[in-house]
Amino acid sequence: MNCIFCDSPKTQVSNSRGRGSEVWRRRECTQCHSVWTTRETIDFSTSHRIITPSQEAPEHLQRDMLLFMIRDSLQHRNDAETAASHLTDTILTKVLALKTPEIPQAALNEIISETLSAYDPTAAAVYAAKAKFSGPTSLG
Ligand SMILES: [Zn+2]
Repeated sequence: MNCIFCDSPKTQVSNSRGRGSEVWRRRECTQCHSVWTTRETIDFSTSHRIITPSQEAPEHLQRDMLLFMIRDSLQHRNDAETAASHLTDTILTKVLALKTPEIPQAALNEIISETLSAYDPTAAAVYAAKAKFSGPTSLG
């Protein structure tokens, strides 16, 4: 990519590492010597669909929507913000491990429930109560 400061095309990747479904790249401009990091993530809304028995068209899996639901069930915690982000990544890693682009709603709910239960049983109970009325795809 071009330098974000001087627009020079002479940039290079000095370091990169992958974590879960993310790749970080440390970039350097050989022209002005600026350094910055880029982050590449999977856009789940283009790769995964949620299949519900009652709906005709599958819905796209939205990370933001998932994060919102998880954060909502962690409201009783001081670390809700960071915990929700980590738990969402954990859930999406488990979704990737299914190796299929179509996820039944029930399977997704089970992954969410199991992940929340292991971290905070109260959050799992809050999520289960809300999921009864609206699944992770029907909010918003
Ligand atoms: Zn530059």
